[in-house]
Amino acid sequence: MAPGPGDDRMVVAENMHKYFGRLQVLRGIDMEVRRGEVCCVVGPSGSGKSTFLRCINHLEKISAGRLWVGGELMGYRQRSGKLYELHDSQVARQRRGIGMVFQNFNLFPHMTVLGNVMEAPVRVKGRSRSQVRSEALELLDRVGLADKAAEYPRQLSGGQQQRVAIARALAMRPELMLFDEPTSALDPELVGEVLDVMKGLAEEGMTMLVVTHEMGFAREVGDKLVFMDEGVVVESGEPRRVLSEPQHERTRSFLSKVL
Ligand code: ADP
Ligand code: MG
Repeated sequence: MAPGPGDDRMVVAENMHKYFGRLQVLRGIDMEVRRGEVCCVVGPSGSGKSTFLRCINHLEKISAGRLWVGGELMGYRQRSGKLYELHDSQVARQRRGIGMVFQNFNLFPHMTVLGNVMEAPVRVKGRSRSQVRSEALELLDRVGLADKAAEYPRQLSGGQQQRVAIARALAMRPELMLFDEPTSALDPELVGEVLDVMKGLAEEGMTMLVVTHEMGFAREVGDKLVFMDEGVVVESGEPRRVLSEPQHERTRSFLSKVL
């Protein structure tokens, strides 16, 4: 149901479908994430998890169904009962409120760590460099990398690069953070430092949608666990319950492989 005034749902997906040509990737996703909630999404490779996140961030366009973020209909505007596509400027504005962190960090290689964190607020929001600079340094301090500000991404470990990527996303002051397998490309000994930063964010009340294979994180930090398979939500609920008493055979089979 469409979110109304005073609604505490940050993300509402309603019967969301996505096709790539004739390939149907999302087949009617229904999902809700409340403000301040950490929602972890798990499921087999190819089940549509990345596509779901990418639709939320306008990196893909949904084919059918509806999606609201922060009470706003994404991809459409409503006028006299009809749906119209958003203008590029409206899409750009919606995207500014959403931070995304990818598996492969995607830092700008030719910019310093500080430059990476400063880039979007300066270029997209047109804010003053001096103001953005001090905020960026604070963010780097928060992810434990104040001493790396002048270095380039290639000089950092994968775990450090991913922490820079998180700081870069936070620099836009998002109200929602999307994480797409943020630790999957990391050597095992570097996973913890990234999860710790994410846990800190969760404790500060950030609304987070996290695609992950880290079941420990999902159990300890997640408020909700969603199991997706073949483009649908098979089941969702309190993480400990879903992990210990999965209701569906498909969930049981998946969990038996990853736990
Ligand atoms: P997951 O993240 O769960 O592994 P994805 O959302 O990446 O799944 O992919 C779901 C399916 O959609 C896969 O079959 C994938 O090949 C397909 N797919 C993803 N992106 C595209 C695209 N841009 N064009 C065509 N097919 C795509
Ligand atoms: Mg994926």
